[in-house]
Amino acid sequence: MYAASSCNRIPAAEQTPTVAGIPTDVGIPTGAGIPTANWTSTACDPSVSATAGAHGDTRGLGARLRNAALELLSPTRCIGCEKPGELICAECLERIEWIDAATACLACGAPFGSVTCTECRGAPSALAWCLACASYEEPLPSLIRGYKDGGERRLAEVIAEMMAARYLSAWRDAGTRLAGCVPEAIVFVPATRAAFRRRGFDHMEAVARGLAAYVGLPLADALAKRGRADQREAGRAGRLAQAQGVYQVVRDVRGARLLLIDDVITTGATMNAAAGALVAAGAAQVAGLALARVW
Ligand SMILES: [Zn+2]
Ligand SMILES: [Zn+2]
Repeated sequence: MYAASSCNRIPAAEQTPTVAGIPTDVGIPTGAGIPTANWTSTACDPSVSATAGAHGDTRGLGARLRNAALELLSPTRCIGCEKPGELICAECLERIEWIDAATACLACGAPFGSVTCTECRGAPSALAWCLACASYEEPLPSLIRGYKDGGERRLAEVIAEMMAARYLSAWRDAGTRLAGCVPEAIVFVPATRAAFRRRGFDHMEAVARGLAAYVGLPLADALAKRGRADQREAGRAGRLAQAQGVYQVVRDVRGARLLLIDDVITTGATMNAAAGALVAAGAAQVAGLALARVW
């Protein structure tokens, strides 16, 4: 797997063999578009999620014993309903309102709007297309909160796998709609420095690493963020103002076709600002994928 930190140039040719641009060597189920992996407590270790299976077997006995001890002290519970046993249970997975890429608004990821989306009609976009996996309804708010601020880092793997499954099913079900950008590398919207300090990690970086491994694309750690504010408290106008000019491109992305990922799309301003910075730095095309769309 290509490691972004080892090289400043995103390789156009160094990628997984594809069929019509669609990765073919994915290690996840693509049948129903709903992940079926074992998301029990022992399946996910944040220390190995970055490689999502490729190096998962390098985990040592010490780590396994530590996990077993932690499991005894604090059993894994479903992030949606607190039922013990799994990070997210089958019932809570059933509750997720997945968005159909065939009918979604390709400008903002809203679940409806393939013809006209009332939210973003006429607004210019730096994104070739933009999709969200599901509506921002429970259990996803709990899932995202639990991951970002609740200390459950193992959820990075769950989120990465959900996004990988939806990304691949979007290509399968609505590939012709996505022809405007066939991504060759993955970029993530970075956290603010303040958020990084508060949480101690960049939440989308771990997701991006997992997603990259699942879909067989390299990860390009190409964006840095200068902003201070946490956008969750800002209104639409505030978000748009905040989003302007806060993203800095720190890798050579000239000519690259990129998939930009984030956790939640609210107005699309963040995704657009980050994509705009990449396009301004010479990226050929940028497409967007978020876990959830506030709707
Ligand atoms: Zn549950
Ligand atoms: Zn829209």
